Amino acid sequence: MTTRPEIVLVRGDITRQDTDVIVNAANSSLLGGGGVDGAIHRRGGPAVLDACRTLRAGHYGRGLPTGQAVATTAGNLAARWVVHTVGPVHSTREDRSGLLASCYRESLRIAAELGAGTVAFPAISTGIYGWPMDDGARIAIRAVREAAAGSVREVRFVLFDQPAYDTFAKALAEDEATG
Ligand code: ADP
Repeated sequence: MTTRPEIVLVRGDITRQDTDVIVNAANSSLLGGGGVDGAIHRRGGPAVLDACRTLRAGHYGRGLPTGQAVATTAGNLAARWVVHTVGPVHSTREDRSGLLASCYRESLRIAAELGAGTVAFPAISTGIYGWPMDDGARIAIRAVREAAAGSVREVRFVLFDQPAYDTFAKALAEDEATG
């Protein structure tokens, strides 16, 4: 299947989504943190952390590099898989937007490899990692539009508060207007 996924915006908590994949804005340790990461591990339970520890003991002994993604079980979450990706910390000295786009692209590539139909993303890097919401939203929407999404028919951005939702809605409208 090569049709473009539909982009859907919702305001809410990503851990409550019923999508096949929930994307986690992880850190490179893969061993949990604050924000979305903490919420996913809390609700996903020990199976998610165990799977992350196994990854650290194996292929990702040095951690998951920024811009890459890897899947684990979703434990007690309604989703089938969690895809963990490491967003870049925002910098005013260098342009790291390519790494942020890579998070979305790589997460979708892994979701498609798994055969997922629906994927929920948080606004990666816009919390603890300091990315301005408007720029983060533009990069997210453009990256999803340009990605080869395979089986994925819906990409759902789950925005935690109304300002984040409004910013994504504006970025989506602008992206559609410019094609
Ligand atoms: P990062 O370290 O990549 O910046 P954060 O988890 O700190 O990741 O924040 C990413 C975004 O996710 C922020 O906009 C934050 O408000 C939002 N967020 C935090 N908790 C949740 C949640 N449970 N569901 C959806 N979004 C969330």
